[in-house]
Amino acid sequence: VLRLEAVRKSFEGTVVLRDVDLEVAPHTVTALIGSSGSGKSTLLRCAGLLEEIDDGAILLDGTEITDPRADQDAVRRRIGVVFQAYNLFPHMTVLQNITLAPRRVHAVPRAEAEERACALLERLGLADRAGEYPDRLSGGQQQRVAIARALAVRPRLLLLDEITAALDPELVGEVLDVVRGLKDEGMTMVLATHEMGFARDVADQVCFLDGGVVVERGTPARVLGEPGHERTRRFLSRLV
Ligand code: ATP
Ligand code: MG
Repeated sequence: VLRLEAVRKSFEGTVVLRDVDLEVAPHTVTALIGSSGSGKSTLLRCAGLLEEIDDGAILLDGTEITDPRADQDAVRRRIGVVFQAYNLFPHMTVLQNITLAPRRVHAVPRAEAEERACALLERLGLADRAGEYPDRLSGGQQQRVAIARALAVRPRLLLLDEITAALDPELVGEVLDVVRGLKDEGMTMVLATHEMGFARDVADQVCFLDGGVVVERGTPARVLGEPGHERTRRFLSRLV
């Protein structure tokens, strides 16, 4: 589904992604791990076309989306992005948050958008919250609404950046369960996480980044269990 070829990205002369290659197969989950500042968020932002790359190419279903001639808006509609801070619109209800993009961007009729939103809320265990405003929900519920909002446009690919990092520990589980459920339904996802247990549990592929370089990638058992590089070993040994 997604492919990065020698992607390079700098901010004011500092290289943040250095010739990053990555391949994400359909219906798989890729976990990006690495220390703070290693480039995980930048990689996700580049893949979601929220940040321009300096060199290399990013392909979605074989089409180069970083080609300046590509229809970037059309591409963005096929990629759902959820961040650590859920960024729900505070003045809109849960239902309005979820139906906004389908109605405005995809011209889905209101009744249909609401029907789809309710189905999503049902799936994420929030059926009774449709009329609520975000500030009346727990962090875990808000994050689940943010995931529902990202899913509402029926994306091909979901990019999740530390979606549990801002949550109280007891709320982390319910959000991770949603990710597991999406995996079971075949959604293709790339997620940045500091939760190694979750990466081991849900990911098909783990990709360890250090200083903007993909040091290694492979199955969770391989990368987390038998890391092939000293840098990976050092990173893993610093945890817990
Ligand atoms: P964390 O685990 O803390 O979220 P990360 O792996 O997501 O870290 P990034 O946020 O991708 O790391 O940042 C990689 C590097 O790029 C850091 O050195 C950061 O300071 C730098 N950086 C990121 N965004 C910008 C920006 N908009 N302007 C300048 N530098 C930036
Ligand atoms: Mg980050």
